[in-house]
Amino acid sequence: VHRPTIAILLAAVAFAASVSCLIAARRPGMRYDGRAQRTWTLAGLAILAWLIGDVFWVMDIYSLDGFHVDAPVGEVSYAVGALLMAAVVVGLARGRVAGKAWLQLLLDGSLVAGSCFVLAWTWLLGAAAEDSEKPEIIVVAAVTFPIFDLLLFGLVIGLWRRSPAGARAPATLVLLSLALKSGTDIAYAFVAVSGDYKPGGLIDAGWVLSCVVLAAAPWAGRSDLLGTHEPRAFSVAEAVVPAVVTAGCAMAVVADAALGSRGPNEVALVVTGVVVVVLVARQAMTLVENVMLSRELADREDHYRSLVQSSNDVIMIMDSDGVVRYVSPAVERVYGYATDSVVGHRVTRLVHPHDQDGVVDRLRRFLVDDTALLRLQCRVRAADGTWRHTESAVSHHDDGFILNGRDVSERVELQEKLARYAYHDVLTGLPNRALFSERIALALEAPALGEEPRELAVLFLDLDGFKAVNDSSGHAAGDQLLIAAARRLTRACRPGDTVARFGGDEFAVLLDRDGTAPAAVEIGRRMVAALAEPYQLGETEVAIAASIGIAFATPGAGADELMRNADLAMYRAKSQGKGQVQVYEPGMHADAVARLELDNRLRRALLERQLTLLYQPVVDLQTGVVSGVEALIRWHAGDGQLLTPAELIAYAEDSGRIVPLGRWVIEEAVRQAAEWQRAGSPLSVAVNLSARQISTPGLFEAIQGALLDSGLLPQSLTLEITESVLIEDVEGTIERLELLRGLGVRLAIDDFGTGYSSLAYLRRLPVDVLKIDRSFVSGLGLHHDVTSLTRTIVRLGRDLGLVLVAEGVETVEQMNQLRGMGCHRAQGFYFSGPLDVATLQEVVGRGPFRVEGLEAVPAVASAGVTVVDLADARKRLANAPLPREPMSGETCPDGETAVPPR
Ligand code: C2E
Ligand code: MG
Ligand code: MG
Repeated sequence: VHRPTIAILLAAVAFAASVSCLIAARRPGMRYDGRAQRTWTLAGLAILAWLIGDVFWVMDIYSLDGFHVDAPVGEVSYAVGALLMAAVVVGLARGRVAGKAWLQLLLDGSLVAGSCFVLAWTWLLGAAAEDSEKPEIIVVAAVTFPIFDLLLFGLVIGLWRRSPAGARAPATLVLLSLALKSGTDIAYAFVAVSGDYKPGGLIDAGWVLSCVVLAAAPWAGRSDLLGTHEPRAFSVAEAVVPAVVTAGCAMAVVADAALGSRGPNEVALVVTGVVVVVLVARQAMTLVENVMLSRELADREDHYRSLVQSSNDVIMIMDSDGVVRYVSPAVERVYGYATDSVVGHRVTRLVHPHDQDGVVDRLRRFLVDDTALLRLQCRVRAADGTWRHTESAVSHHDDGFILNGRDVSERVELQEKLARYAYHDVLTGLPNRALFSERIALALEAPALGEEPRELAVLFLDLDGFKAVNDSSGHAAGDQLLIAAARRLTRACRPGDTVARFGGDEFAVLLDRDGTAPAAVEIGRRMVAALAEPYQLGETEVAIAASIGIAFATPGAGADELMRNADLAMYRAKSQGKGQVQVYEPGMHADAVARLELDNRLRRALLERQLTLLYQPVVDLQTGVVSGVEALIRWHAGDGQLLTPAELIAYAEDSGRIVPLGRWVIEEAVRQAAEWQRAGSPLSVAVNLSARQISTPGLFEAIQGALLDSGLLPQSLTLEITESVLIEDVEGTIERLELLRGLGVRLAIDDFGTGYSSLAYLRRLPVDVLKIDRSFVSGLGLHHDVTSLTRTIVRLGRDLGLVLVAEGVETVEQMNQLRGMGCHRAQGFYFSGPLDVATLQEVVGRGPFRVEGLEAVPAVASAGVTVVDLADARKRLANAPLPREPMSGETCPDGETAVPPR
């Protein structure tokens, strides 16, 4: 084989490697890292430098074209290459290895280099160098190369160890390249010293191979990861390698001296000495490092110990049987145990019996598991006997566990409390609506879950008159009453039934076992009876009733529907009076829908002024003059009359709309009367008040305000109330009426004679006018009883000093009879129906109705009826605060009425 040809081929390969390295340095992937670019460029140049050296050798030795250079250009070029290579190694690691580590790397590198060199020298180079005829300078130069290479090799081992395990390819290739280079250089040194080096041989091949491997490094991965990590801890084997290598090198020298024919070799001795010094230095460094490390460790341990000891977490070390080996002092602070009383015992001793099995089981499984952490929750007994909710993190420790436990009782209690609040009524402790509906849903689901279908009933319950208690006795008393009611309800039920409070005075009961109709009604009755017992609230005793609605589960109906039905039934019960129990019937729903719609319309009517007042004249039976008018409400709903006034009022009372509605009527009527007053034709106006209105707070202020705003004289306003206001709370009503009358307005009893025997109260009521109900008037002259009863009423009223007004007078006969009995005034279709303001003015403008020419008021015979103590009544009325002027109109013009005969 022609050596120069091989040399040229190898040079071409090296050139390709150099170019590849330079390209790699410029490739896109490398652009993010300027340092890597520079480093790999240097590597390319190092290869190039070697290549140039080689080319000179080839030309020199083979004297191509008589070319000869005296200076050792090849050697110089090799030296430049070696320095460039050193720059590559430094470039790869600079900034990624701390200052002290550099010294370490250098010492390690020196150890490797020194030891390897001693070995190489002892077995290979030493003898050759001695026998060499070459000048010393050549020998030293030849030997320097491998030393330098080995130093770099030693350095790169350190860097390689510090590269992340998964990204080591470039470091490995550099390392391999340096190993090849060192080996080849040793061989070169041997050849150069002992004989003649000729390019194109194996040595060149070794060099080129090392170049190719180096050129592959920049393509193999990210070189910026070289030496970026802390070196992983040495295994014992790894740790002793440097010592073994050094010992090996010393042994080699000793063996060589003992066995060799030449005696101890100077160079090897010197280098070994240097290696030993380096080793000692390295050792010293390690020692210092160890001292510092152990100090740091002790510090850290101290730190951790104080952390463990001052922590409120209880830290425990246990063996695999759960026997405590160590426990932190927090166990005393948190659970009240002395550490000694815990150590040496099984930890499960302190765990709640219900939690014990679970804890033991989970710890056992964790022991053989490879998860790092186990979270445990259990209750732990404290020294004071209380159970503490504890949350622990358990990790493996030796063959057992280390456990970090924390008392989380407060948090757990808070959680439980919050859950309780979410599902219970705070005041009574009963389940709330949410829990109640869940229970119904659960009970309804039972058949779907394969359980026996159960009879299910829901009772809705509302306390009648609770609001009054709250208003009059205060909220504290109201709360007290609710708590008592809750207790009574629970007692009236069977164990297992659910009693819930929905807020306010609404309760509900779920009978999910044997909720049959007889059972439910029986329980409902029991509850009504239980709740009706008087309640002792502080000094006062209060009685309230309850209305109960019952609904039964029907196939296909959900919880909401069941509850709604019970609610509807309750509503119906309420409308039937106090203490009723009502079972749901299908019609109730339609009723409720209709009511809802009606309520909406009424609300709109109030807003959109669809309501008006008509005024019916009240005529003085002596003079025929219109003495006043009665305001009567009308609803113009656009699509015809929705409700008669009586229905409208009854509905508004039920729904509560009576309050704004009544206020509007008062304001409107008073404003109208004030206008007549200002116009010089005053007419007193009568306004109807419903029972509910009278019991609503604010009525007094509303009337007073209307009078003040309008300037109407109070005596021009009459308030008509029906006897039904006396059904409830007679005393309270009388007091309220007196208050109203104190304003100077007059009071009338409407529809007198139809209601509950108000005769009994008549003398106590602060009234001015009695309006005799239409039913009496219509029976006049037809039924003897009615006629005589009417007569009695008139006489009675007159005796009490009241003004008597007959309602519903439709015929002249009726008018005549009433006039004959001494009735003062009358209203009815005979004179006029209710009129709008314009028509009324026209009617009044025509003058008085014709009533004259009839008999004068006869003396009333006192037949039969003596219900009240007249003398007493008179005295009371005489003492009343207001003057009682006659309520008659001033003018008596002539005219006609809109409604026929006179
Ligand atoms: P009321 O206070 O007894 O009013 C008299 C009712 O008898 C009026 O019915 C009136 O139109 C009617 N009426 C008058 N003369 C005759 C007659 O000769 N024959 C017959 N058959 N009826 C006659 P209306 O207007 O339908 O009112 C019915 C009830 O509705 C009133 O009875 C009153 O209790 C109540 N009401 C009307 N407007 C109001 C109001 O603004 N507020 C309150 N709270 N109740 C009102
Ligand atoms: Mg009336
Ligand atoms: Mg009436």
